[in-house]
Amino acid sequence: MRAFTITGPNEGEVRDPPVPDPGPGEALVRVGFVGICGTDYHIFKGDFMSAYPLVNGHEFSGTIASLGPGSGEWRGGDRVTVDPTLTCDRCYHCRRRQANHCDSWGALGDTRDGALAEFVLVPIKNLYRVEDHETLEEAAFTEPLACVVWGVERLRVMPSDRVLIFGAGPIGALLAQMLSWSPAADIVVVDVTEEKLRVVRQLGARATYVAGDDLAGRLDERSRGRKFDVVVDCTGVTTVIQGMFAYAAPNARIMFFGVASPTVQVTISPFDVYRQDWQILGSMAINSTFQQARDLLAAGRIAVRPLITQIAVLEDVARILGRAKTPTELKTLVRPASPDLG
Ligand SMILES: [Zn+2]
Ligand SMILES: [Zn+2]
Repeated sequence: MRAFTITGPNEGEVRDPPVPDPGPGEALVRVGFVGICGTDYHIFKGDFMSAYPLVNGHEFSGTIASLGPGSGEWRGGDRVTVDPTLTCDRCYHCRRRQANHCDSWGALGDTRDGALAEFVLVPIKNLYRVEDHETLEEAAFTEPLACVVWGVERLRVMPSDRVLIFGAGPIGALLAQMLSWSPAADIVVVDVTEEKLRVVRQLGARATYVAGDDLAGRLDERSRGRKFDVVVDCTGVTTVIQGMFAYAAPNARIMFFGVASPTVQVTISPFDVYRQDWQILGSMAINSTFQQARDLLAAGRIAVRPLITQIAVLEDVARILGRAKTPTELKTLVRPASPDLG
């Protein structure tokens, strides 16, 4: 089968490994669509917790090709999406509903071969059904949406909160969309490109601003000098994270959602955190939130089609990961199927 394989930092190629055989409790999934995520850029560059060689790709949908023993109600041909999270279900954190901090946490496409291949081996317990009325393209968004669901649970948006989101990429757009039906009074999104902001306005942001001259003044005007109760970084960019505290109101929840490089530091004033009653929050991947994301997509509550800006093939992946995202790029989906299979 063909599989995009990262062979070392900034190096990857399409290889031809054997199709794996599912063992007990495993399914072989024929991959339909895989989303490229910010984390994939980090993995490719070598600044994430991955070892090489690795087939990356953790946001995906497909159909069941074959099943190992103990497959229960699943059948070949079933349309599925997969929670990539690998947990032991036995350690202290798994038993405290903190499985995203499992002592042996891993994920398909991060610590084990993932979905940028024609086939991927997955644990049966990680399979989720895609409903008949859904497309596999849209179902590939279940994983990033599950991350957003966990973030939203942690943010606890309250009635009349003013929300400020930095970054109108897929995560910022999904977050703005979900919060657009929260009791927040305002949802404001900042990005460097107007093209992305246009999409995020269509999906539910109430106001958007292109970063640049006098952003502080314009945001101050928008909040009538009261600043924002919820401030979320969805860029992972150091200067943005460093700057976000300036917009936080008393009692604000300040979330680092975008994945920053592990070596980066920012400076914060402990006095400000004390004086302003701030809460600083992280949001690590998925914490048993995949079913909620599945339900929201199946119910048609979250629109993801406007986020798809490109459908690529495996041969394109090295080039895509090797360059910076273009200003208008939202989600790139990769379709690994051999052309002859249609
Ligand atoms: Zn992702
Ligand atoms: Zn565990």
